[in-house]
Amino acid sequence: MKKKTKSFPLPLSSVMGRSSFEKQVRSDTGWPGNAPVAGTDMMKNRVQATDVTASFVPPKMPRHKLPVSRSLQSMVERLALAGIRDKVVLAAIGQVPRHLFVDPGLSGQAYADVALPIGAHQTISKPSTVAKMMEALRMGQDAPLMQKILEIGTGCGYQAAILAKIAKEVYSVERIKSLHELARRNLRSLRIANLRLHYGDGMLGLPQVAPFDGIIIAAAGLEIPDALFDQLSVGGRLIAPVGGEQQTLQLVRRVAKNKWERMVVDDCHFVPLKQGTI
Ligand code: SAH
Repeated sequence: MKKKTKSFPLPLSSVMGRSSFEKQVRSDTGWPGNAPVAGTDMMKNRVQATDVTASFVPPKMPRHKLPVSRSLQSMVERLALAGIRDKVVLAAIGQVPRHLFVDPGLSGQAYADVALPIGAHQTISKPSTVAKMMEALRMGQDAPLMQKILEIGTGCGYQAAILAKIAKEVYSVERIKSLHELARRNLRSLRIANLRLHYGDGMLGLPQVAPFDGIIIAAAGLEIPDALFDQLSVGGRLIAPVGGEQQTLQLVRRVAKNKWERMVVDDCHFVPLKQGTI
């Protein structure tokens, strides 16, 4: 294994500010895989707690422990290479550190294009799936920001955090209490002001906040719930996996008060959409 100073063209301290430098050191000592985002509470606490410069030993830099900004950036580059073209979507994904949403034991895989378990038999979606759904949701929109989006299936909160970068208001509903609470914890340090989490059955939508110009369902039902068709504004779009064993990703557009158009975007595989709360 090469020493840090040899694996970079320049010493880290010459290309990063002091705080980034400290962050780098901690990523090799404290965090399993990646450093937290600059400016988070966790970050501040840890920097205050240890004089990292005093105990600095040039860290080894295995590939799976690249600094988070580089892991995230290369994940975004891979998404672009895989065909995601919407720059607003790519930029939004590039602002949300995925490792904050997975179990520390799995953070070495946080920037791979894989779904990972988040507890309660549910998974965090693959980044390419998140990207594809958001691209479909935004397609044809001139404005960079959508107005109001509803997400069904908060899970760990990862997709909700990205949605908050592409819309003025985001509402996300989760039916499993422990995951609703997990998402709250995961999202706390990111301080996202335009995201509201709800515990409830998303098959009912959120009539008190409707209509939405975007609805994104993160779990597959045999059909798209009627309530969600109704809560779409005219001109709005809904993207959802539909099916059981065999599923397709479907895009619905409400083209008039009483007219919806539907098209199949791709094959897909999602956890099931279920009724009620637990
Ligand atoms: N959005 C998540 C993916 C979570 S997996 C991400 O960022 O990766 C899908 C989630 O949908 C699960 O947490 C599951 O509990 C939830 N779900 C399934 N049926 C639901 C329903 N009727 N209402 C709300 N959430 C539901």
